[in-house]
Amino acid sequence: MPVVSFGASPLGSVFRPVVEADGIKTVHAALELGMNFFDVSPYYGKTLAETVLGKALKGVPRQSYILATKLGRYGDDVFDFSAGRVARSIDESLQRLGVDHVDIIQAHDIEFGDLNQVVTETIPAMRELVRKGKARFIGITGLPLKVFDYVISRVPVDTILSYCHYSLNDRSLESLLALCEQKGVGVINASPLSMGLLSQKGPPSWHPATAEIKAACRKAAEVARESGTDIAEIAVKWAIREKRIPTTLIGMADEAHVRRNIQWSTEPLDDGVLKKIEAVLQPVLNKTWPSGRPENN
Ligand code: NAD
Repeated sequence: MPVVSFGASPLGSVFRPVVEADGIKTVHAALELGMNFFDVSPYYGKTLAETVLGKALKGVPRQSYILATKLGRYGDDVFDFSAGRVARSIDESLQRLGVDHVDIIQAHDIEFGDLNQVVTETIPAMRELVRKGKARFIGITGLPLKVFDYVISRVPVDTILSYCHYSLNDRSLESLLALCEQKGVGVINASPLSMGLLSQKGPPSWHPATAEIKAACRKAAEVARESGTDIAEIAVKWAIREKRIPTTLIGMADEAHVRRNIQWSTEPLDDGVLKKIEAVLQPVLNKTWPSGRPENN
């Protein structure tokens, strides 16, 4: 049964300013309600999200949760996928998180790097971290789906983290699921609310979607509201229907969101409302935006 898990980027105040104590309370609420997978990165809030998550996890038995972080991306334009940085990055993350190992270490947004370097240098260096006991599994993350195909066709990785490609308005991740299954690669889906596009509040100002996508998602939110529901509810329930995607990360720094997302994940989806929303989103279905180097898109 697919589940929802905790995306910790909001703990780094990337969507709105978050008071540390509220972020910590949100993590504790998630643990109490049974969420046990947390995903973070040194990039989120320039290490703030890792630091806040580390404080929240202090004293929580290490074997009771699964922890994923990333390396290689450190700012909007700061990337380093070299073996030397891999080795230093994990130690910095472990210190901020207050743990002696993470469960998954992921190369973050690899479309901004040279994919040949990722295959021949970054991933072997990440395997070394597994040998040293600092991580249990290795993964890659990014936006353009072709980067996953490129890497997993050349070198074994344990997981991929794809975002904004398995949600009501963009389902293109479906095209990669068979290859992942064939290669034995675990699929983590992130951003089922399309980073806020599929919410009543709407996306943050930095959201990279085109005006056309934003307008269609706004219209979809209106249709949901008129049908007596919340677009976020339909979006969460829809994203966790695919059995080949065991977990979906939702960004949260608000206890009410944690409660609502868990509740929604146990309830059926209203197919009548879904059909109306799908009709509104049809013109923008699978439309996306570029990310990283042109050759990686
Ligand atoms: P998301 O689609 O999960 O949306 C997050 C936004 O939705 C936040 O503003 C949050 O406050 C809001 N929200 C959450 N629950 C809600 C609810 N019930 N009702 C209304 N609004 C709600 O996008 P995201 O946070 O970018 O993605 C989830 C996680 O996936 C991230 O935190 C991160 O861990 C991971 N991620 C990784 C990458 C990468 O590796 N390149 C990229 C994107 C996301």
